[in-house]
Amino acid sequence: MDAVCGKTGIIQLAKVLARGLDIAYNCRASTLKQRDCFWEISSDEGLVLKTKTIVITSPLPQSLEILQKSNYSYDPKLADIEYSPAVNVLIEDETDFDSDLTYSEDLGPDLFSICAQHKLGNTERSAWIVVMSAAWSQTNFDRPDEQVLESAVSSQPLTSYSASQS
Ligand SMILES: Cc1cc2nc3c(=O)[nH]c(=O)nc-3n(C[C@H](O)[C@H](O)[C@H](O)COP(=O)(O)OP(=O)(O)OC[C@H]3O[C@@H](n4cnc5c(N)ncnc54)[C@H](O)[C@@H]3O)c2cc1C
Repeated sequence: MDAVCGKTGIIQLAKVLARGLDIAYNCRASTLKQRDCFWEISSDEGLVLKTKTIVITSPLPQSLEILQKSNYSYDPKLADIEYSPAVNVLIEDETDFDSDLTYSEDLGPDLFSICAQHKLGNTERSAWIVVMSAAWSQTNFDRPDEQVLESAVSSQPLTSYSASQS
């Protein structure tokens, strides 16, 4: 078995693995149908693809929707699995406000995690991905982006971080 390593990140790795493959972009699989010796995949855009093998890798809710629409049965326990929305915020700044922080988790009721992207070599400028908690995300998910951003950056402990900077 070959080992593959993405030196410049996970997206680059996926791009390398996908080289030379026949990929249909901007296409939402809607239904599957098994014919004599192949599968037929129909998309919302009206595309029909034929293939010998299918591997469904969309998230569970979308995968179950495809199976339902196609009248294929599945273990009903799968429908009991619940997902929480997750609001993710990308913050950039001129300076690093905490040189010790690379990754931290479970930061109170509002924040799930914060990860310094520049420490991972992903960005040249100081940048952090902040994952808001499931409860916070549930409450704020449907609000306009500007309001979500404003509330996120003023939530604890992000305000403490910015306060410690000034
Ligand atoms: C901000 C952020 C930072 C992250 N950082 C890291 C990290 O540093 N390291 C790490 O390991 N993980 C990280 N993750 C998590 C990682 O991105 C996920 O675990 C990973 O993307 C899951 O891959 P997946 O293929 O299962 O699902 P996804 O990446 O969600 O891909 C599912 C795909 O299915 C497509 N799809 C859905 N329904 C259909 C349909 N009906 N027909 C066709 N296509 C469909 C969607 O468009 C999507 O492209 C991060 C996530 C976020 C949000």
